[in-house]
Amino acid sequence: MRVDWNLTADDLKKQKKHLRIEAVLPTIKFLIGRGAKVVILSHRGRPQSRKRQKRFSLNIFAKILSKLLKKPVYFINSFDFNRIKTEIKNSRPKTVFLLENLRFLPGEQKNDKVLARDLAKIGDFYVNDAFSVSHRENASVVAITKFLPAYGGLLLEKEIKNLSMTMKKPRRPLVIVLGGAKISDKIGLIINFLKRADVFLIGGGIANTFFAGQKIPLGKSLYEKKMVLLARRLLKSPKIILPIDSMIKNGSVLDIGPNTSQNYAEIIKKARTIVWNGPMGYIENPKFAKGSQVIAKAIIKSRAFAVIGGGETISLMSGIKYQASNKMFLSTGGGAMLEYLAGKKLPGIEALN
Ligand code: ADP
Ligand code: MG
Repeated sequence: MRVDWNLTADDLKKQKKHLRIEAVLPTIKFLIGRGAKVVILSHRGRPQSRKRQKRFSLNIFAKILSKLLKKPVYFINSFDFNRIKTEIKNSRPKTVFLLENLRFLPGEQKNDKVLARDLAKIGDFYVNDAFSVSHRENASVVAITKFLPAYGGLLLEKEIKNLSMTMKKPRRPLVIVLGGAKISDKIGLIINFLKRADVFLIGGGIANTFFAGQKIPLGKSLYEKKMVLLARRLLKSPKIILPIDSMIKNGSVLDIGPNTSQNYAEIIKKARTIVWNGPMGYIENPKFAKGSQVIAKAIIKSRAFAVIGGGETISLMSGIKYQASNKMFLSTGGGAMLEYLAGKKLPGIEALN
């Protein structure tokens, strides 16, 4: 079973609950419940050389998972696939294994068939529950499906169901809240929703890039120079709404202002479908996280179906108290979510199809 536990030590320290771990528990429990032995596969970080640096090891996750499942999880730190196969064969039903970081193997990111065949050796079925790496052509995501009966996991299914609801006959108004650092990361989503959505509420570094398109002086504010001309062209669409006030420090625009927050919250209140990706400001400083917090609270309060995603956006949400409901979906997707919402086909999902 492929999962995405690409979390740094810092991520693990910062949060008590880890969305990417919690989110795959139902699939693991489902498989164990049916008597399966489960071998979990993941990557972690970007190890450069073949040196197996400790900070990239998945070892710690065996402990975390063991606690959550309340049963032992066996960590496999070798890639001797014949031996692993024998070890698994000799284990009892319902045993859970975790294999060391796949990116310690050069074939993983090359979608290498030989590695995929080796991985396939150790199991009878393959489950992809790593939506967030399904935009990558990796051996444990794509090539492996050629060698085993392959299925999507419960999280993968949930991601696809929820994300596609924003594209297939969404209830209106459909409001896109878009912030974060770079337009270039999110341009696919903007283009794909320019016709579908009713309105875009813009913040963050993205808003700054639009301001640059209006020739507003920005000092040292975060914005993307190479995207200014494109931003200028996008402004022809009346659907794109920019902040009317900003929080500024030393000449840098660091958050949306209180009037903007209030306006955006009003619009969110009337929405029936919402997609939110990217914070409205420099949220690492609590002084400039206010705009994003107002947005988060407005979305929580609204009756709209909402999809929220993006690494920083999700980490902001984890600091806010609210009741989980099926009206609000926190995507584990990150980059994969952006590609999916850009209307692109993800190789990992295509491989399953
Ligand atoms: P996500 O991971 O949620 O998709 P991004 O990666 O696109 O979001 O952007 C998040 C980053 O953007 C945060 O680190 C935040 O500090 C930064 N950011 C957003 N707005 C501003 C701003 N006005 N000035 C400086 N940094 C900003
Ligand atoms: Mg990010």
